[in-house]
Amino acid sequence: MKKDILLFAPYFEKIRTKVHDGELLYLGQYLFNIGYDINILEHKSIPKNTDIIQSSIVIVHLWKNELLLNQRLCKVLIYLDWAKSYFNIETIIGIGSIATSLREEIFDFNSSIDIIIDEFGSHYRENSFKADDFDFVRGYFKEFVCLTDNYLTSTNINYNPSDIVSLYSSRGCQKKCSFCSYNNNVIGWKERNIDDFILDIKKLNKYFFVTKYSLFDNNFGINKKRNEDKARHLSKEIASFDFKVKLSLNISLDGVNKKILDDFKKSSVKNILVGLESLNENTLSNIYNKPQDLDHSTAMIEYAEKKGIIPIVSYILFQPWLTLHELKYEVEKIEEFGRYRIIQFLANSKLQVIPNTDIEERLYKDNLLVKGRLLRDYIFKDNMVEKIYKKLNAFLKEKMLNCDLSVTSLSKLKIDEWKYLKSLLKLYT
Ligand code: SF4
Repeated sequence: MKKDILLFAPYFEKIRTKVHDGELLYLGQYLFNIGYDINILEHKSIPKNTDIIQSSIVIVHLWKNELLLNQRLCKVLIYLDWAKSYFNIETIIGIGSIATSLREEIFDFNSSIDIIIDEFGSHYRENSFKADDFDFVRGYFKEFVCLTDNYLTSTNINYNPSDIVSLYSSRGCQKKCSFCSYNNNVIGWKERNIDDFILDIKKLNKYFFVTKYSLFDNNFGINKKRNEDKARHLSKEIASFDFKVKLSLNISLDGVNKKILDDFKKSSVKNILVGLESLNENTLSNIYNKPQDLDHSTAMIEYAEKKGIIPIVSYILFQPWLTLHELKYEVEKIEEFGRYRIIQFLANSKLQVIPNTDIEERLYKDNLLVKGRLLRDYIFKDNMVEKIYKKLNAFLKEKMLNCDLSVTSLSKLKIDEWKYLKSLLKLYT
């Protein structure tokens, strides 16, 4: 007899709009197709005792890099360990890039997660399971599934019209940035038929009146010709909808040109999440393994803005090998580029080390890695940069204590932080 499975996603964001976990939505569909009853529990923090739905099998999605901050992953594992005995859960399975990247440490931490499954295989904490007991989950990573009417109407999916739902049009990424773990749990980049993605939008609108979708692809694609075809097709199809949609997607700047952005605009793309990461070509090539034509990247950001698409620019200002000279250079470049375009506070614009990435290995070799229980950090090679970073971080933390988190206060804080960083640079150079 087939059992029911609870799919669980712990989140920690303080955002008001609910963004639903697409990976769990599709994994649910995959398991539903092979006969399992599915429950989905997305939680903004560690659940209260009563929140978890009883189920003998739980699959937990661990993929957000933020899970490695503030001991969040430890808290999730402690909760799962408690829930396992309280609710008599037989098996907890972990999936996602963080689960794969920290597999051995997760198994060592406590006995909450029994199996971690990715496209490469099923990895067991102990030999208490038969090798193929849960291998059916692995099949999910090898194929794409489409949302069906039966699944959407017979499981506990309750989306509100104002929610954002994540859907995919591809899996994996063709790039190999040194700091990124998103390829750790999947084999290569796979493209999904864009028509299937369009059908999923139609179905979710039909049943839940959802109009906002984010593509949770790691990267929409890096081949401009291919992206042109997909963007054109998407724009034609969306124009024929009898309802309005808003889309956001992740894309590399070398995967876009003006034509693609024009069609994105026609496809109701409101935001593109782009990884600029640095305005220093040496850092991009030698540290991040993400060489870019910066003239093209910045021109695309400007063009997107001109078209009314908001580029959400990811930037890593502080990295372990940053010198004082390079810091000054990047600050000047950011000034030219437009500080307002970078979403993070600069103290938060610090390289996050994810285990099992090239950057972790390099930090280890250079004796800069700080390794703790389910966490990674580093010391800066340049003492002056370390000093400046600490002061900037302390400045931000103190200001955040009295910040009401309104958009106006946060914008003011960003301006103050920028001024403070520049004053520190004057002081130390
Ligand atoms: S482009 Fe993005 S998803 Fe792809 S490897 Fe780089 S950081 Fe990761």
